Amino acid sequence: MRYHLLTLGCAKNIADSDGIGALLAQAGMTRVDQADAADILIVNTCGFLQASRRESLDALRALAKLKRADQFLIAVGCLIARYGETIRREIPRVDAVLDAGQWLALPRVIEQLAGDWRASAYTETPGARAIIARVPRQPQGPSAYLKIADGCDRPCAFCIIPAIKGAQRSKTQDAVIAEARDLIAQGAQEIILVAQDTTAYGWDFGDRDALATLIEKLCTEVDGLRWLRLMYAFPGHITPRLIEMMARYPQVAHYLDVPLQHAHPETLARMKRPSIAVTREMLRALRAALPDLAIRTTFIVGFPGETEDEYAALLDFLEEQQFDRVGVFEFSREDGTLAATLPDQVPGKTKKYRRERAMALQQKISLAKNQQCIGREMRVLVEGFGEGMTIARSYRDAPEVDGVILVQKELPIGTFARVKITRAMEYDLVGQVQS
Ligand code: SF4
Repeated sequence: MRYHLLTLGCAKNIADSDGIGALLAQAGMTRVDQADAADILIVNTCGFLQASRRESLDALRALAKLKRADQFLIAVGCLIARYGETIRREIPRVDAVLDAGQWLALPRVIEQLAGDWRASAYTETPGARAIIARVPRQPQGPSAYLKIADGCDRPCAFCIIPAIKGAQRSKTQDAVIAEARDLIAQGAQEIILVAQDTTAYGWDFGDRDALATLIEKLCTEVDGLRWLRLMYAFPGHITPRLIEMMARYPQVAHYLDVPLQHAHPETLARMKRPSIAVTREMLRALRAALPDLAIRTTFIVGFPGETEDEYAALLDFLEEQQFDRVGVFEFSREDGTLAATLPDQVPGKTKKYRRERAMALQQKISLAKNQQCIGREMRVLVEGFGEGMTIARSYRDAPEVDGVILVQKELPIGTFARVKITRAMEYDLVGQVQS
């Protein structure tokens, strides 16, 4: 039995698709890249924004149109919780839908659809939710995302995730450690911890410092862990002990992804986000303990009521803080969110102009930060080779969202190398191998 798996959405969906791949391999299935060569077509959907929902529905419609009578189409992931019935109604050739927590049941669902096929080596734990269970893994390369929790308890006014994913639920430490060992045993060199809010990990166990403990356990109990990277932190949830763990263990990349969303006190208040004072203090404490820390963050422009002054405060904040990596997004009016009901919605043209202007400013900052790397020796993880260049990443770069380091010499994928930076571009660097 062959399956084709299309993954849409964020790093958490990539982690889930890794798990789906491992589960179906255990069940005796083979992954194929071409949809027409598969018996089972699976789309791991995203439901975060209008644009991502449209992309998921378009992908399902396209496969529904293509699929032969002997093929089955299954939709899984974040779109299902709110739009499962819509999918069934509007795309009747979808044979089954499973929400983001239900994919552990896939082999059973495929058995039911395919009639004569039987999964090998597959035992389903009744009611098991992939969100918190230890899941099988099949990393696709030297780097792997590890989803440590799902759902979210935050009240951010623009965000639909609590409505589609529910409250925060964390994986047990044992499940995370076991999954990390699994990934390392299959060759992963870097593990990236992801969740909606990684810094709230374990709060549902009643432990507000569980992430610091988890990092310490991963660094002391998982042999072979080379790089541990932290993404999706929440401002105000970063504890002194977490910072201490990040500084103490050499496996922890001096990198943090912490979406901030805005910088003006009134905009942040309307967004129901932590105050700028909390954010400034967090950044000061992080940089004091980790002077070479690379910070990635994201901002939303055009939030309802955003005045020119509020926007100017955001630009000033970018200048002031000089972040390494920044994504700027136009506010998306999402049904079911508080922000969708707010007055003073900002016109599309203004949102677009503000996003472009903020990104242009950040491009200059990113270039200047990259130029400061010239002459530095950096340890890099080799990810690929193309057009005569090795593609690698330093501690400053998360996969898929940040820059890369280009090296003229061909280096084995999945290994670390030391390179000296010789040239800087807006987002990427060029380096020479050091012996
Ligand atoms: S913390 Fe992130 S996932 Fe949670 S509500 Fe806020 S924006 Fe959404």
